Amino acid sequence: MDKVECVVIGAGVVGLAAARRLAQAGIEVIVAEAAGDIGTGTSSRNSEVIHAGIYYPAGSLMARLCVAGKQALYSYCDERGIPYRRCGKLIVATADNERDKLASIKAHAQANGVGDMQVLTGAEARAREPALNCVGALLSPSTGIVDSHAYMLALRGEIEDAGGALAFHAPLVRAKAVSDGFEVEIGGEAPMALHCRMLVNSAGLSAPAVARAIGGMPTDRIPASYYAKGNYFSCSTRAPFSHLIYPVPEPGGLGVHLTIDLGGQAKFGPDVEWVDSPDVASLDYAVDPARAERFYPAIRRYWPALPDGALTPSYSGVRPKIVPPAIARQDFVIQGPQDHGLAGLINLFGIESPGLTSSLAIADEVARIAGVAA
Ligand SMILES: Cc1cc2nc3c(=O)[nH]c(=O)nc-3n(C[C@H](O)[C@H](O)[C@H](O)COP(=O)(O)OP(=O)(O)OC[C@H]3O[C@@H](n4cnc5c(N)ncnc54)[C@H](O)[C@@H]3O)c2cc1C
Repeated sequence: MDKVECVVIGAGVVGLAAARRLAQAGIEVIVAEAAGDIGTGTSSRNSEVIHAGIYYPAGSLMARLCVAGKQALYSYCDERGIPYRRCGKLIVATADNERDKLASIKAHAQANGVGDMQVLTGAEARAREPALNCVGALLSPSTGIVDSHAYMLALRGEIEDAGGALAFHAPLVRAKAVSDGFEVEIGGEAPMALHCRMLVNSAGLSAPAVARAIGGMPTDRIPASYYAKGNYFSCSTRAPFSHLIYPVPEPGGLGVHLTIDLGGQAKFGPDVEWVDSPDVASLDYAVDPARAERFYPAIRRYWPALPDGALTPSYSGVRPKIVPPAIARQDFVIQGPQDHGLAGLINLFGIESPGLTSSLAIADEVARIAGVAA
């Protein structure tokens, strides 16, 4: 059996960031990825937004790691020439009763360490975005967008430069805890058995299933899996906005918002559609065109000129939920030996948004739990 210090399961943005962090600290790392390339899961099915960290509950891992991750990601992109734009985001109130909420959102953001939010009058918001209908808005200057694929390619390059390796078509089949680490069985095109001291489960939607495949992992520490699909519609006309536009959040969600990509193409969503699926492999990513009917009225509250017929079904992503719909709000769960009792195992559960933004900070957290020096 070949020996390696660390196996990371999953080459999404979070697994890549963790592997890079460990490899650069001198740990010998292999990333085992079931698919044929990096980032083919949720990491290529998101909004590519660098979130500011506004809404997450105070003191949550999401709040802390989003703010830290955002700063780290902007610096990383600057240093490596990864395309991004700090375009800013407007949270728009379209009715008087929503205007009061802007001040409380700003106060909440401030408590999370996002101290640069500005309340704007309707006129001030329209001076920035003339096509907008609103009675007031909140500007988040530190929100941005990033080329997530360029980012993941850079992470991959740095893993390899630091002596790490990536194996594709290499699904973890099972593992078991042994006295000095784990025996890991990798299936796929070139099956292999590995012995490692450290095992990082960064399998995204499949993280609970991977945890269940690790002999010795206490089952009562493994969360259940729920799937909340997010559907996007693209806009066939060029939307006249340079900021991301979000309505004031409503109970249960952020509302139908507009994001733009680095090419200036607008998309709307993601919405929230809870789906039942026996497993991750059976998830249906097709976007039901009928869902557009709910998008039009929601978007026209802040963009009345949205033309009829402009919305086209685009793509979808699925949130790795670990709480049921009745609860819906969850935090990242980063489990180390103190949580499950297995030395060397780190599980990453429920890494939904803002997982892309937080990826470098999550990687630091993994390194801290692994006892790796800064
Ligand atoms: C609709 C939507 C919009 C989002 N928008 C944003 C956003 O704008 N900004 C933001 O910060 N975050 C956003 N997110 C969250 C972000 O996309 C995720 O948090 C992030 O991509 C998670 O990365 P990951 O590496 O944990 O998971 P993934 O990208 O899913 O990677 C997991 C990998 O593990 C592999 N794998 C699974 N099982 C095995 C196995 N047994 N063996 C080997 N490999 C395995 C999979 O093939 C996959 O490649 C969004 C998420 C969704 C769903």
